[in-house]
Amino acid sequence: MVVENLREVEKRVCEACRRAGRDRDEVTLIAVSKTKPASMIEELFAIGTRDFGENKVQELCGKYEALPKDIRWHLIGHLQRNKVKAVVDKACLIHSVDSLRLAEAISQEAQRQGRMVPVLIEVNVAGEESKFGVSPEETENLVREAAKLPGIQVQGLMTIAPFVENPEENRAVFSNLKKLYVDIKTKNIDNVAMNVLSMGMTNDYEVAIEEGATMIRVGTGIFGVR
Ligand SMILES: *Cc1c(COP(=O)(O)O)cnc(C)c1O
Repeated sequence: MVVENLREVEKRVCEACRRAGRDRDEVTLIAVSKTKPASMIEELFAIGTRDFGENKVQELCGKYEALPKDIRWHLIGHLQRNKVKAVVDKACLIHSVDSLRLAEAISQEAQRQGRMVPVLIEVNVAGEESKFGVSPEETENLVREAAKLPGIQVQGLMTIAPFVENPEENRAVFSNLKKLYVDIKTKNIDNVAMNVLSMGMTNDYEVAIEEGATMIRVGTGIFGVR
C-alpha cells in the first residue's frame, strides 16, 4: 500500500518536474511519517526512501532510536526551545525556525555538542493567524540574525501553505516564497546558503514544484489519512 502510493507520488513529481523544465533530482521528496508506525517506514526504507519527516520531537526521537541510522529525519513541526537539546543531533534539517530566541537555543546546544545544525526559516506567507512562522517582511532580518550565530547554518526557507480545495489557490503563496528566497539569495549573506525551498504537501506539491520547491513534504498521499 505505502509502496504503491509512493510510486504514484513519484510519478506525479516526475511529471511536475517535466512540466516545469526541471530535473527530477532538484526536488527531494520527504515522506511525512508522523503518527504512522515504524513498520510503514521500513517498507519504504526497503525500496530506498531515506528522507522522512516528523512534526514532534518525541516521536522523531523514538523512531530515530528504533530505525536504521542512515535515515535522514526532517523536523518539520513547531519546535519549543526546551526540546532543542533532544533533537539537534538527530534531525538532518530543522525546517521550522521561526524566532531568534529559537535560533539562539539551537546555536547554544549546537556549540555544546560541537555540531553545525542546518536550519530553514519558516515563513507565514499567507499571514494566517493560526500558523507559526515569520512574516515575509521579517524574514530577511531573521535570516541575517540567525546566520550570525555559531553552530547554525541557514539553508533556506519553508512554508506551510493554507488548506485549500483547489491547489491553484496556493500558487501565489509558493511563487511569493520563491521570490523572497531569490531576493535573499542574491544578497550573498555570510553563512547563508539559500539552496533549500521547502514547500508543498499532499494537496499542492505539484504546484509547489512548478513554482520552484526543492523539498516537498508529503504525508497523506503516501501513508494514507491520519
Ligand atoms: C503533516 C505535515 C505535512 C504533510 O501533510 P499532508 O497533507 O499529509 O501531506 C507537511 N508539512 C508539515 C509541516 C506537516 O506538519
